[in-house]
Amino acid sequence: MGLIKPTNIGTDIFKAAEFLRNNETVAIPTETVYGLAANALNEEAVAKIFEVKNRPFFDPLIVHIKNVSQISLYARDVPNLALQLAEEFWPGPLTLVLKKQGIVPDLVTSGGDTVALRMPNNEMTLELLNKLDFPLAAPSANPFTYVSPTSAAHVLDQLDGKIPYILDGGNCQVGIESTIVRVLEDTIEILRPGGISEDALRDFLPDVNVVEFQEITSSPISAPGQLEHHYSPFCKLYPAEIYSQLNVSIDAVIYWSKDSKKKSNSTMEAFYLTEDGNFLEGSKNLFALLRRLDKENFNNVLFEWAPNENLGVAINDRLKRASAKRVSIIKD
Ligand code: AMP
Ligand code: MG
Repeated sequence: MGLIKPTNIGTDIFKAAEFLRNNETVAIPTETVYGLAANALNEEAVAKIFEVKNRPFFDPLIVHIKNVSQISLYARDVPNLALQLAEEFWPGPLTLVLKKQGIVPDLVTSGGDTVALRMPNNEMTLELLNKLDFPLAAPSANPFTYVSPTSAAHVLDQLDGKIPYILDGGNCQVGIESTIVRVLEDTIEILRPGGISEDALRDFLPDVNVVEFQEITSSPISAPGQLEHHYSPFCKLYPAEIYSQLNVSIDAVIYWSKDSKKKSNSTMEAFYLTEDGNFLEGSKNLFALLRRLDKENFNNVLFEWAPNENLGVAINDRLKRASAKRVSIIKD
């Protein structure tokens, strides 16, 4: 990294726009998680995202756009199905993977011929996009493989001195990343579960083939962004069902609901993700709780899975990756 510069936090959309026009990075609020944004059409600006995050170049970025009609500026041969999805779910946590237009730099797509597009549902960020004449490439605003930030304070915790500005839009309302789908003529393939559930897609398009998210079995390198170990706090997480096989001392438990916490007779320190099992509440709380465990120096934490339906599928995907064995994927 270059010189350490002060990082300011504020709500000044003009200031954020000015930094972005000067090819700087700015952290932006979205309904999913905070993004680390830069001009998606400028390679010098996009390179700074990878540098700040220490992100490998094989992991492509999502391009954030201001409305549905911008899709055709950055994607070509857009299936009608993709437009229907955008009309229904945007602004919102659904990312569409489409064939890219030449104007999108290779750095954004990791050299691939597809681009991931999304219109985020956050008033400040939409206002910002409307002031700019370029779209924003923005992955989550955290060091690569760590837990995504869901507040401006989370971003500052790790990127202080590395970026000039954090646009503060409060706490993220969904709290986990977008659902990423590849859209073909008559099929939707879920590449990453996220803030729009598979059921919501099926309910909207009952006649369309929705291919459910496939667990990763291939090597991390061939599956960009879908690394087995990701979204991980420093403390070690273990699913509750392997408790009896562990030979480490557990210092806390994360329950799915307050109710399941009550039912247990454990004397360990306990946290819960939801009061009474509301999925959106659970997704909103997940990353903030994982960060809190690190701040409070917990070492070994058990967790209970969410029910594997609705947003519980995405929550369990994040819990699975957060608890996966760390694999070395970057050679130094
Ligand atoms: P992040 O914003 O940090 O959650 O990361 C963005 C994720 O979007 C990447 O890790 C990829 O999994 C996914 N992504 C971005 N572009 C593409 C693409 N062209 N094809 C498939 N996945 C993509
Ligand atoms: Mg990320």
